[in-house]
Amino acid sequence: MIDNLRAEVLSKEKAPEAIHRRLVEEFGQDRALLAIGEHYRLTGEPSRAIALPRTVEELSEMLSFAMSENLTVIPAGAGTWLNMGNPPVRAHLIISTTHMSRVREYEPADLTATIEAGCPLYTFNQLAAQHRQWIPLDPFGDESSTLGAIVATASSGPMRCGFGTPRDWVIGMQVVHAYGLTTRAGGKVVKNVAGYDLCKLYTGSYGTLGMITEISFKLRALPLAERTLVFGANDVYQLCALAARITASDIQPAAMELLSAKLSNESIELATTGDGNYVLALQFLDEEEAIRWQMAEAVRLGADLKHFPLSIEVATQFWEAYRATEVSQEWDLIFKVSVKPAELAGMIAEVQKYLPESPLSMLRAHAANGVIRLHATNQALAWFRTKERPKRIAEFRRRAQDYGGTMVILRAPMELKSQIDVWGEVGPTASLMHALKEKFDPQNLLNPGRFVSGI
Ligand SMILES: Cc1cc2nc3c(=O)[nH]c(=O)nc-3n(C[C@H](O)[C@H](O)[C@H](O)COP(=O)(O)OP(=O)(O)OC[C@H]3O[C@@H](n4cnc5c(N)ncnc54)[C@H](O)[C@@H]3O)c2cc1C
Repeated sequence: MIDNLRAEVLSKEKAPEAIHRRLVEEFGQDRALLAIGEHYRLTGEPSRAIALPRTVEELSEMLSFAMSENLTVIPAGAGTWLNMGNPPVRAHLIISTTHMSRVREYEPADLTATIEAGCPLYTFNQLAAQHRQWIPLDPFGDESSTLGAIVATASSGPMRCGFGTPRDWVIGMQVVHAYGLTTRAGGKVVKNVAGYDLCKLYTGSYGTLGMITEISFKLRALPLAERTLVFGANDVYQLCALAARITASDIQPAAMELLSAKLSNESIELATTGDGNYVLALQFLDEEEAIRWQMAEAVRLGADLKHFPLSIEVATQFWEAYRATEVSQEWDLIFKVSVKPAELAGMIAEVQKYLPESPLSMLRAHAANGVIRLHATNQALAWFRTKERPKRIAEFRRRAQDYGGTMVILRAPMELKSQIDVWGEVGPTASLMHALKEKFDPQNLLNPGRFVSGI
């Protein structure tokens, strides 16, 4: 009885409203927010307490405050992808970097910049465009996606084919740890690579080891021209074979995306009118002359297939629509399967056994990287509402493992996430990861339970 009473008092103390009040007392009205509705939603909870630091010192004080009050912290940027990963086992306080968005240093002549974590990629790239430079990353999401979150989740998009992932562009960062201690890894210039590996550790750690507060990037010159060429076919394996030929050739597309073409979106239909169920879309970002050569070479390699060079206007519509349908809320489930590029066709065959093509599902792939993204509605998975579902998903994951790959659930209803680990087993590295977590966050206050192996 007394224990129940104590639990009730504690849960009231840790209710979002109570935490919000404490934040206001400690840091002031303009540093705290009580979010209601979809904004910063993690699971189905009705409200969330959010701290909004303006400086790294404030963020460090907020983490120390959370630790002293034994509050778990969910690091956040704009909060658009907080439902990715396993649901956190406890989530008392969200600390968002959105008010830390200054460009600290930018040396166009050195092609480097140091930027606060809350600055959106889109915003920085608009600034850098004035110097004809950019950070060549294009993760899915919207214009508010922050650099800190993109690095914390190692997010990338179609241009991963030509430009890689955040790990290829980050040269240094500042991190505030669970105790409020601030550390720096790597450098601010390309030459200085001391501590580089720690940057690699933080990149993709989903905010479980610390909060990224500042990042130094290498930049790249903006391309002089842009063109898109699409190939259409009924047989997806013909397009996989073409993708393999292109990968083995001297052609270097910025993006090479494989997609099922029967989408409702008009601009994609426009681009692919009447020619097959699948499309391989190649985007080239280069000098005009180099693009012309690469497009001619791609057409030669795909001579057995229909192809369509897109006008700049249609290409823009096509890629915008591609990105919009990728993040559309109409999909209840998104699986991401990663295999070696050489296994792409074999894995697609498995995917199609698991979930045959239908208007209720959609297949996409970063063809050069062996990353397949399978989107489906609940209805598409006839077995979804049965007790079978965790077993069937586990079987699918095993098939990906048989191909030497992994399968991660990017999106799923909460009830399903509560029955299956979205990441799957990570094997022998789990103990190393637990040891690191123990070292960086011994009280397990940062994003507890969100990441692989229950970290
Ligand atoms: C609908 C949708 C679909 C997406 N699909 C993909 C996809 O298929 N592939 C892909 O690679 N990316 C995908 N993304 C991710 C996206 O590209 C970015 O990672 C995300 O949009 C970042 O935006 P945010 O600032 O709102 O992040 P938030 O939602 O605020 O945070 C995202 C994650 O990063 C952590 N985090 C945020 N800031 C920090 C920080 N400063 N320090 C440490 N941890 C931090 C959070 O704890 C959380 O786990 C998708 C995003 C959306 C909205």
